[in-house]
Amino acid sequence: MTVSADLIGDAYSAAHVWDVLERLTDVESRAAGSDGEMEAARILAETFERYDCNNVERRQFSIPGWTRGRSALTVHGESDRQYDRSHQVLALPRSPAATVTAPLIDLGDGVPPEFAETDLDGAIVLVSSATPATSDRWIHRTEKYYRAVEAGATGFIFANEQVGCLPATGNVGSGDGAGAIPAVGVSRELGSRLARTCERGDPSVTLTVDCENERTTSQSVTATLGPETGPEVLVTAHHDAHDISEGATDNAAGCAVVTEVARLLATATRDLETRVRFVTFGAEELHLLGSEAWAAETDPETVRAVINLDGVGSSRDPVVSTHGIDAIGAAFEATSDDLGVPIELDDGLVPWGDQWPFVYRGIPGAMVTAKDDGDALRGWGHTHADTLDKVDRRDLRALAVPTTAAVTELLAAEDVDRRSPEEIREAAVEEGHAEGMRMTGVWPWESASQD
Ligand SMILES: [Zn+2]
Repeated sequence: MTVSADLIGDAYSAAHVWDVLERLTDVESRAAGSDGEMEAARILAETFERYDCNNVERRQFSIPGWTRGRSALTVHGESDRQYDRSHQVLALPRSPAATVTAPLIDLGDGVPPEFAETDLDGAIVLVSSATPATSDRWIHRTEKYYRAVEAGATGFIFANEQVGCLPATGNVGSGDGAGAIPAVGVSRELGSRLARTCERGDPSVTLTVDCENERTTSQSVTATLGPETGPEVLVTAHHDAHDISEGATDNAAGCAVVTEVARLLATATRDLETRVRFVTFGAEELHLLGSEAWAAETDPETVRAVINLDGVGSSRDPVVSTHGIDAIGAAFEATSDDLGVPIELDDGLVPWGDQWPFVYRGIPGAMVTAKDDGDALRGWGHTHADTLDKVDRRDLRALAVPTTAAVTELLAAEDVDRRSPEEIREAAVEEGHAEGMRMTGVWPWESASQD
């Protein structure tokens, strides 16, 4: 067994992981580039210091910041009805500020055939956050948004599938730029009301988004353990969150587990043959800006593997996306056998999450999430309800142990296999990601060659 009984006992009896989670969720808002995000970075740096990590550092980078203002949706008719409360309508980050009036068209789940069959020129489009079971892949919010933009729509309304008056937020910008048309999230309940209005006739609506798109500064936090030189294994999570909630499961929980892995490994630092680097990234929610900045400055040869934790607060059962890297799969399999805990492995690509900027550059990487038996893909994530009370402290300690064990396996691994950028690119085409990624401007390879 790679982790000792003492260490497992320590993980189960100590309150550190929960304390870190509570401190992060106590911060008022950890939106990318905000004072709250900076406070979260300070808390994490201080935690790594306290656990006797080395090279504790905060690295700043410039981002296109976004600050929320008021948003409203008015349905015109015999008497206008305005919806402007935060349980009804929320602007989506990096929407431009604008007011548009146009016919409202309900496009259902917003899958590609629905876009192809409907004339959306000059319309405001309503789509659900759902991906129907008939689709062979998950369709991301941004793909629906960019399809609407391409079809000439003037506004975008994203109805959450989660019940409970919870509009879902989420970035619509691409790379460094804001989105082209105003975008809001609405609750499932308001979404179904709007859909009924569309059934009865051709409603005209006015969509107003007030917000600011201004450059600001974000930061990532890093610390190391083990030898001062040689290739590193990175253990990562993002510390920014959406401005509307505590960001408990997305992703204060991931950061808390990263610090717990650091604390546990720090007790065995003399045995570490390979350097382990902990990184909490800023600005993940504005499309991976922190990890993209980090990976762009990293020589791929210096990183043996990246283990990224995101969305781990909803259960104790890890789901690990290995991107087809055998050594990462083997490390988690050995851990599952040793500890007798279920760990689900998936070798498909996950072209979102902070491991992705590493993976597409040919660095072995994995995304660790927690199995969620709820219906909605994101659970409480991206809504007002992503709060501390949704996390069970037993889940965090039950995740910290296998994560520490798998990282220890990787640190001791003789060799970690790699897939070149070309192989990853081919897999992205084969797995059906290419069209959606190109559409949303996040296809990282040259478009000149044929796929
Ligand atoms: Zn996240």
